Amino acid sequence: MDFPILEICDDELGEGWLRKYFHPHGLHCPQCGRSVKHARDFGQTSRSHVHRYRCRDCQAVYTVYTGTVFAHKQLRPAQVILLLRGVCKGESTASLSRELQVAYDTVHHLRQQLHAIARRLQPNTPLPDAVTETDEMFQNAGEKRRKTPRSDRSATPAR
Ligand SMILES: [Zn+2]
Repeated sequence: MDFPILEICDDELGEGWLRKYFHPHGLHCPQCGRSVKHARDFGQTSRSHVHRYRCRDCQAVYTVYTGTVFAHKQLRPAQVILLLRGVCKGESTASLSRELQVAYDTVHHLRQQLHAIARRLQPNTPLPDAVTETDEMFQNAGEKRRKTPRSDRSATPAR
């Protein structure tokens, strides 16, 4: 079931959350590296509703999305946050597309990009814990399925 969740999400709060997680060392000019404190607030973008900044030093214009996979996608902060949440929770592309009112192809493409980034960021070192819990072994492996009939047995199941 799809909920109209976007209606209760605040863009200003969402942008603050995105700044915190997309730019943990603070938002900076992508061209010269100066802090956003040295930029003029250029108003909000019309479709994505995020602040646009113009660097006072190099005149570069940027937003919280600049330099991320969400640049030029024209998504509201709530759409981005809920899309990230949905991808992490394994929600289907079709469901996310409907619920967030984002084109299926856009959700699909962003999901692929996010997975590629996640794969790149995975550590190559083994887990430090030598003991593996049983539930960890089955995590992401799906539920137990019925055994498939072996090919060397009769096609007619025994009763
Ligand atoms: Zn600059």
